Amino acid sequence: MTTYVWDYLPEYATERKDILDAVETVFGSGQLVLGKSVRGFEEEYAAWHGVRHCTGVDNGTNALKLALQALGVGPGDEVITVSNTAAPTVLAIDATGATPVFVDVRESDFLIDTDQVAAAITPRTKALLPVHLYGQCADMAPLTRLAEQHGLKILEDCAQAHGASHHGRLAGTMGDAAAFSFYPTKVLGAYGDGGAVITDDPDTDARLRRLRYYGMEKTYYVVETPGHNSRLDEVHAEILRRKLTRLDAYIEGRRAIARRYEEGLADLTGPGGLLLPATNPGNEHVYYVYVVRHPRRDEIIEALKSHDIALNISYPWPVHTMTGFQHLGYERGALPVTERLAGEIFSLPMYPSLPPETQDRVIGALREVLTAL
Ligand SMILES: *Cc1c(COP(=O)(O)O)cnc(C)c1O
Repeated sequence: MTTYVWDYLPEYATERKDILDAVETVFGSGQLVLGKSVRGFEEEYAAWHGVRHCTGVDNGTNALKLALQALGVGPGDEVITVSNTAAPTVLAIDATGATPVFVDVRESDFLIDTDQVAAAITPRTKALLPVHLYGQCADMAPLTRLAEQHGLKILEDCAQAHGASHHGRLAGTMGDAAAFSFYPTKVLGAYGDGGAVITDDPDTDARLRRLRYYGMEKTYYVVETPGHNSRLDEVHAEILRRKLTRLDAYIEGRRAIARRYEEGLADLTGPGGLLLPATNPGNEHVYYVYVVRHPRRDEIIEALKSHDIALNISYPWPVHTMTGFQHLGYERGALPVTERLAGEIFSLPMYPSLPPETQDRVIGALREVLTAL
């Protein structure tokens, strides 16, 4: 049987009764859209973060888009972010009519190089969009300082960072708003698509609620600012409520898997060879993906295929090199660290229900392949 980087079936096998009970609860409730489960999840997710507001939406991409719009971002504005991210981060900026502006990431942690942000700010800059990539928070203090100096909004892309923390503060509680995805692979995942935006600001939240519901306050009401249909489904909200009670355990499970990789691979690491993820001081990592680095990445992935192990790369193509973003005008070489990483990184299997014997098989195969290189 092929081993993949992610699989939900072992988790479903242990949680099946609870998941099906959630489905039954919603289907029998008499209210299939924006009912008790969405409201309940929003309250519980806000409380989990210690913030005042949460609005559930249909996916993480739209969480980012609606949050940007709720923060006042639109055509003519610029939003500073990274190219070393999932394409949706950038698609969301594009969908508001604003222009994405990229800065490079740091070689040490693959996160936004905060030293490059000041030079990217122009009179049109409206917001900073740091991505807490792979489950580790970007450095927020320099960004907060710049935002205050230049009157910018900060939207945190938390799609990979549920429960991650930075100097004692949870991901999503350090900016003006934060967008989450509940795509099934994420640290908190639904059984389909879902997303949410959290914020402490009641006006931002009120705008978000209208934006996800055609631009209306309530059913058959007036559209003041044209909005979208971006509602979170009741059934996913109810499943997420159940899974939220286990989020701490999921994160612990991911950390235990990360420790097992460290123990099993540490002696093979070194400069110019295998590099394991580093956690910055003050950060608590949630390991959404376990991204390692090796200059001979492609050979390693190929060799592991004969061990029935299929690995992923997050992400093989930096967003600024994609065909659909050529109009932004970034040449190859514009973001050297991002481009170099894209050729060297790869992800090892990581999900809380990964069976230890499967992980040990991956470690064993990787050891064999690395020793034979
Ligand atoms: C998954 C992800 C998104 C998009 O979320 P969807 O729910 O798939 O729309 C956005 N940003 C990052 C960094 C992601 O990993």
